Amino acid sequence: MAYDDQNIFAKILRGEIPCNKIFEDDFALAFHDINPQAPTHALVIPKGPYVSWDDFSADAPADLVVGFVRAVGHVARLLGHDGDGYRLLANHGANAHQEVPHLHVHIFGGRPLGPMLTRSG
Ligand code: 5GP
Repeated sequence: MAYDDQNIFAKILRGEIPCNKIFEDDFALAFHDINPQAPTHALVIPKGPYVSWDDFSADAPADLVVGFVRAVGHVARLLGHDGDGYRLLANHGANAHQEVPHLHVHIFGGRPLGPMLTRSG
């Protein structure tokens, strides 16, 4: 799947639409999800044209991969969940119901998060 630079997170990265920012550096931007599923629901996105974990893991330069992974951990600590725990989620493609075609890692925290997956299907 080709990267579409008109996706909503590309627009947030370019500052064309606002976000509730948590953190930003040369490699990543983190902001609160507009429709939170937990007391903490943050999104961390890399600063590069990657649709999902699939092309990012295959094609992104090493400094961006490292910078992005470090940013995810840093944001979880900034939000105070290194002690009480958190869950990371990155959806890729149709079966995962990925909605926005720019790689994003969800950080959920702030309450017990239950089992990993619902048992449907
Ligand atoms: P996905 O299903 O692609 O993994 O998750 C997309 C996430 O992006 C959803 O949790 C959704 O609430 C969030 N989202 C969609 N549009 C916006 C937006 O304009 N701003 C913010 N902050 N979050 C958004």
